Amino acid sequence: MTTDVSSLPGIGTTPHTVGPLVDAQAQLASAVATLDYEPGLHALLASPRREMTVSIPLRRDDGSVEVLTGHRVQHNVSRGPAKGGVRYSPQVDLDEVRALAMWMTWKCALIDVPYGGAKGGITVDPRRYSRPEIERLTRRYTSEILPIIGPDKDIPAPDIGTDEQTMAWMMDTFSVSSGYTVPGVVTGKPVSLGGSLGRASATSAGVVHIALAALEHVGITAARATAAVQGFGKVGADAALFLTEAGVKVVSVSDQYGAVHRADGLDIRALQDHVAVIGSVVGFPGAETIPGEQLLVLEVDLLVPAAVEGVLTGANAHEVRARVVVEGANGPTTAEADRVLTEAGVLVVPDILANAGGVVVSYFEWVQSNQAYWWSRQEVDHRLEHRMLSAWHHLLDVASARGLTLREAATVTAVERVADAHRTRGLYP
Ligand code: NAD
Repeated sequence: MTTDVSSLPGIGTTPHTVGPLVDAQAQLASAVATLDYEPGLHALLASPRREMTVSIPLRRDDGSVEVLTGHRVQHNVSRGPAKGGVRYSPQVDLDEVRALAMWMTWKCALIDVPYGGAKGGITVDPRRYSRPEIERLTRRYTSEILPIIGPDKDIPAPDIGTDEQTMAWMMDTFSVSSGYTVPGVVTGKPVSLGGSLGRASATSAGVVHIALAALEHVGITAARATAAVQGFGKVGADAALFLTEAGVKVVSVSDQYGAVHRADGLDIRALQDHVAVIGSVVGFPGAETIPGEQLLVLEVDLLVPAAVEGVLTGANAHEVRARVVVEGANGPTTAEADRVLTEAGVLVVPDILANAGGVVVSYFEWVQSNQAYWWSRQEVDHRLEHRMLSAWHHLLDVASARGLTLREAATVTAVERVADAHRTRGLYP
């Protein structure tokens, strides 16, 4: 008897009819159809391998107790230990974490690092809590998921709402319970605790390597390109900076409070200083403040959504005027928007390639931590660029050989690698 794929999360019976899990499952279904896989293999690839939902009792600073919910999902571990970020956001729910874990499986396979995919998250708005509260929350979450994480099992990293301090607390909590220091249990740690040089800006650097290659592919040189970047956090801020350093004119950036626009290009370093003081890009002197959604439909060559998922939808995709979209965020383009953009001739570089720089340098960090041997910044940067551009060229070849969009080619390539690993290992028992 084969499994009925329609009964799996995100397919058919889920309460959600839209959302990242529906998009992720649709992308997988399309790749499975291209590869002509049997339903049993489809079901295996569509199903999370392991899921853990935990209650996290938190003592607030005023002595009261609040109970929050966290998740850790390991989607697939056929190619190696599970790998993926931890997100602190009010929007976190189990289906979102499942989708993000699945995308991590494909990302790791596509960029060819020896990991499966995972994701974690806590449904919480971290801005409403003090630093000691966030530390207690992080340590309790880590101790709850402790049985399923570890340097050979599942290796968390930062994502939305978390940072290198969060990873330091997770590493310390795991190490205290082990009785010795285990730096390889997380990546994205501070350099002083065994983090890799170049990790903090690796996702942004990778986004920019791919953006420049994609612009070149459509015949636009960096020196005459304009760009808009949505999101000014860990990914967006440095992506905007590195684009300007490559000669691209970044005319607009945004955050959750709004967007700023300057036709002659923004001074990104000055904007970073402004954000450090004010907490938002809004009100940056010399730039016009515009509604956040307007950034997505500006007349630019390059659009980099680097904030949250589902921002390019059926409702706004037909208004996008960029020639190239490079997905810094995970899942910023819904399936419907993807169709609209493809039909309009917009080149969309999918998240699982575009933002893979973070997991590439996470892999370098894990290798360094496990060997207790540290590489120079130059070596990290050089290896990152080589990995990103090799994967880009391979993706172009697959897309043209099979007549697929870049997203389809990326998912097909990744799914095929995971399925090959699964088949070669065989099914136990
Ligand atoms: P972050 O929390 O550091 O920054 C998020 C930014 O997006 C903030 O500036 C926030 O104000 C802004 N934002 C939130 N909602 C917005 C909205 N509706 N419109 C405009 N801006 C909005 O998070 P991050 O680590 O930069 O992650 C951003 C995206 O990149 C996420 O999709 C994440 O999964 C993905 N990603 C991150 C990494 C990494 O290494 N951090 C790696 C791969 C992918």
